[in-house]
Amino acid sequence: MNDCIFCKISKGEIPSKKVYEDDKVFVFHDISPEAPVHVLVIPKEHIASANDIDESKSDIIAHIYLVIHKIVRELGIAETGYRIVNNCGEDGGQTVNHLHFHILGGRSLKWPPG
Ligand code: 5GP
Ligand code: ZN
Repeated sequence: MNDCIFCKISKGEIPSKKVYEDDKVFVFHDISPEAPVHVLVIPKEHIASANDIDESKSDIIAHIYLVIHKIVRELGIAETGYRIVNNCGEDGGQTVNHLHFHILGGRSLKWPPG
């Protein structure tokens, strides 16, 4: 995906505040944080949205949750709690068409979302 900003971020072609990286996943601070802690977890492989997850993607999705388990401890929000958000499609509020999981924490979050 030549014009995907999250592909470019994961390759270091667009700068970001990196939190974590391995061969499959990249984690960085959201440019417009909605909470004291707001990071994005993305697969390095371009997957457009949750609609594109099938059996072949089960390993990367499981890996993403293992990475989340690790980074929430490093970010200091594991004990107080946090929210994992994956917006999908227009009604879901997805604005970047590369699968990403928001990790929000550091304050009490309201529910339900608007
Ligand atoms: P969505 O609305 O698709 O669920 O979330 C996209 C998120 O990506 C938004 O929270 C937005 O602030 C963030 N974002 C968009 N462009 C960039 C960028 O260039 N760098 C970073 N770090 N975050 C971005
Ligand atoms: Zn992409």
